Amino acid sequence: MFEWSEEHQMIREAVKRFVDDEIRPHVEELEHGDLPPYDILRKLFATFGMDAMARDRFQKQIAREKAIAAGEAEATPPKERSGGGDSGMSLIPIIELCRVCPGMVTAMGVSMGLTSAAIMSKGTIAQKERWALDLLTMDKVGAWAITEPGSGSDAFGSMKSTARRDGDDYILNGSKTFITNGPYADTTVFICKLDEGNPPEQRKVLSFVLDRGIPGFVQSKPLRKMGMHSSPTGELFLDDVRVGRDRLIGETEDLPAGGRDGAKATFQQERSGVAAMALGIIEECLQLSVQYAKDRVQFGKPIGVFQLIQDKLARMEVARMNVQNLVFRTMEMSAAGRTMSLAEASAMKLYSARAATEVALEAVQLFGGNGYMSEFRVEQLARDAKVLQIYAGTDEIQITHIAKDLLRA
Ligand SMILES: Cc1cc2nc3c(=O)[nH]c(=O)nc-3n(C[C@H](O)[C@H](O)[C@H](O)COP(=O)(O)OP(=O)(O)OC[C@H]3O[C@@H](n4cnc5c(N)ncnc54)[C@H](O)[C@@H]3O)c2cc1C
Repeated sequence: MFEWSEEHQMIREAVKRFVDDEIRPHVEELEHGDLPPYDILRKLFATFGMDAMARDRFQKQIAREKAIAAGEAEATPPKERSGGGDSGMSLIPIIELCRVCPGMVTAMGVSMGLTSAAIMSKGTIAQKERWALDLLTMDKVGAWAITEPGSGSDAFGSMKSTARRDGDDYILNGSKTFITNGPYADTTVFICKLDEGNPPEQRKVLSFVLDRGIPGFVQSKPLRKMGMHSSPTGELFLDDVRVGRDRLIGETEDLPAGGRDGAKATFQQERSGVAAMALGIIEECLQLSVQYAKDRVQFGKPIGVFQLIQDKLARMEVARMNVQNLVFRTMEMSAAGRTMSLAEASAMKLYSARAATEVALEAVQLFGGNGYMSEFRVEQLARDAKVLQIYAGTDEIQITHIAKDLLRA
């Protein structure tokens, strides 16, 4: 049976305390965009030694890669043969932060997850040392940019951003939108197509690393949006940005599995993380709803005695159990050193995102008029939850991935 271990429970309590002391008092400023989330995230990393652990893991990995390059070590690390580590330790902060401020997890996940992973999975050792370590420790903020005004779900098919060769350099052009951390990123992974005068559908997909302030690269102010206010989202504009090959991830136009494959691996990782985010939102909504059902009196009785309210609580609990089991499955698979198929990760994301949105909206309903007021917090969680059904692939796109897998041969 898979359960939270005693060690997990202890870490959860400690993270809960951090959230109560360091995040809850600032939710208003974070929600109104007056306070970017990064300094609080850095404090979280320092408090739990997450920065030191990331640095240690990074240094070990780089030492191994250097040894492999020098022919002094085997390519398959012993850990991968016998299983991975305890992913619960990295999921717990996601769950606990999402109970209060899911936007902080979006900002953190895109920076130290997606952006650093894009560099760590396909970059050269020099590129990893130059950019990825600072992202993994949250010393620097990262953004990962694939979406464009005209290309979202059909990210590659409709992509207009280009790289053109110019001597030893590349000239980058294009615009990106809805980019998490876009306004504040120090390091941006920009995904585009190599324009060799060939038809767009035949072009290679390349990823470049851009630093803030590079000539021709403009990062917009945060966009106004429905929720996730503690996660700044913006636009990026590139006008004849000249970069050397040292900024092309992998320093080759011909990565072994191709540029599209790198971006797809990123989708898979994103989707698994969403279940943990959903669990945090569901747990908080359920806890607040149970308390409110006991405290709120109408018709001379606590509303929890009414069967229609009980039905809501019971459905929330079923969702909590199911999503928690999906999180346990992620932990189990990671401990066994296995990765989920894209279809399974999609199924998990689809279910969890819908469950979080439904639970949060039902919590608003259970709170009545108070549910519509910010003070009671469930309205923020309902607005925040909705985007789980949109980013990292919409519900409809998850469904197409699941069905494609089911109908294959
Ligand atoms: C808060 C936020 C943060 C984000 N962060 C990032 C980020 O950091 N980096 C990044 O690159 N992107 C980011 N995105 C973009 C996000 O990934 C896209 O919004 C998402 O993939 C959907 O693309 P779209 O908005 O263009 O919608 P569209 O693709 O235009 O979809 C519109 C509607 O059509 C449906 N649809 C599309 N194709 C099909 C189909 N084949 N079958 C059935 N229905 C279909 C969709 O499901 C949707 O309902 C973010 C978005 C948001 C809202």
